Amino acid sequence: MGKGILLIVSGPSGCGKGTVLKHVLAKGGYRYSVSATTRPPREGEVHGVHYFFVDKSLFEEYLKDGKILEYTVYCDNYYGTPREFVEACLEDGMNVVLEIETEGAANVKRLMPHALSVFIAPPSMELLEARLRGRGTEDEETIQKRLRRAREEMLLAPTYDITIVNEEGAPDKAAELIAAAVESKKNA
Ligand code: 5GP
Repeated sequence: MGKGILLIVSGPSGCGKGTVLKHVLAKGGYRYSVSATTRPPREGEVHGVHYFFVDKSLFEEYLKDGKILEYTVYCDNYYGTPREFVEACLEDGMNVVLEIETEGAANVKRLMPHALSVFIAPPSMELLEARLRGRGTEDEETIQKRLRRAREEMLLAPTYDITIVNEEGAPDKAAELIAAAVESKKNA
């Protein structure tokens, strides 16, 4: 079977990429790579579904054992992609979704140049801030940290293969555009 496409998706915290990706995954033929992180779970997040929530020493053991394909430190916590799952799925011909931040995205693109990198942008920074606050899951200091980081990340959008604006109320449209780009990459 042909190899799957590695789909790298980044976008600032609060841009709605989770919802967009739900629509992409619903299309079938995609697997979501569950990352490991040392950040504490948010309400409703499930170990093994949203993240593998691990402590710092276990994460560092994974790193030492080569079990992490790429990783970063984001707002004081480790986040990393488990290697084995990604490699096995691609080999099976599945497309694999990596929802990762900009530094990790650049590292993966260097390692795997055939990957498709997509940046999801919010319609505006004002809307991003409103979404981040509306989520009500972070304290003010964390919101400020994430907004600072978001501004830096937006500057990197041009380094991705494509940028898609997640228009308010239309995550399905953004998902359509992403799936179309994956298909054209597959047939290239
Ligand atoms: P959050 O705490 O909001 O779930 O994630 C914070 C940021 O870390 C997001 O931009 C998310 O895409 C990124 N992220 C999640 N998992 C990984 C990973 O395995 N590697 C990298 N480099 N970034 C990740």
